[in-house]
Amino acid sequence: MSYDPENIFAKILRGEIPCHKVYEDDYSLAFMDIMPQAVGHTLVIPKEPAITLFELSDAASTHLIHAVQRVGAAVKLAMGADGIVVMQLNGVAAGQTVDHVHFHVIPGSVHDLGSHAAAENQTGDLALLASKITQCVV
Ligand code: AMP
Repeated sequence: MSYDPENIFAKILRGEIPCHKVYEDDYSLAFMDIMPQAVGHTLVIPKEPAITLFELSDAASTHLIHAVQRVGAAVKLAMGADGIVVMQLNGVAAGQTVDHVHFHVIPGSVHDLGSHAAAENQTGDLALLASKITQCVV
């Protein structure tokens, strides 16, 4: 399977569709999950096109993990969470639904992880949450 540049995250990276941005650097972008599994659910993606983590270059992987660390710490602080679940799915068989590598950063416990909100904004005001988390990125 080859990378489809029309996938939703590629469109977000090109600015063709909007997102609630939390963090951006030369290699990675973080934004609010539109159908969160918990309040503060954030996604961190590489700018390099790759479907799964296994196809991502070493350099992009390094930068992506650094971004996950920074964003994860910011989500923890902003949401006052004791725990942060970092989750990353590879392949349809694993449950991956968007064919561009992404890390989920979810406040709370894996044992309380709910299913996705049924609709956008069902779980908190995403713009407000994004701004709150952005302010906590160091
Ligand atoms: P996965 O199931 O691991 O592929 O996760 C894909 C995630 O992307 C899900 O949690 C979706 O809610 C989220 N998602 C899909 N479309 C968008 C979008 N336009 N903006 C933000 N998050 C999205």
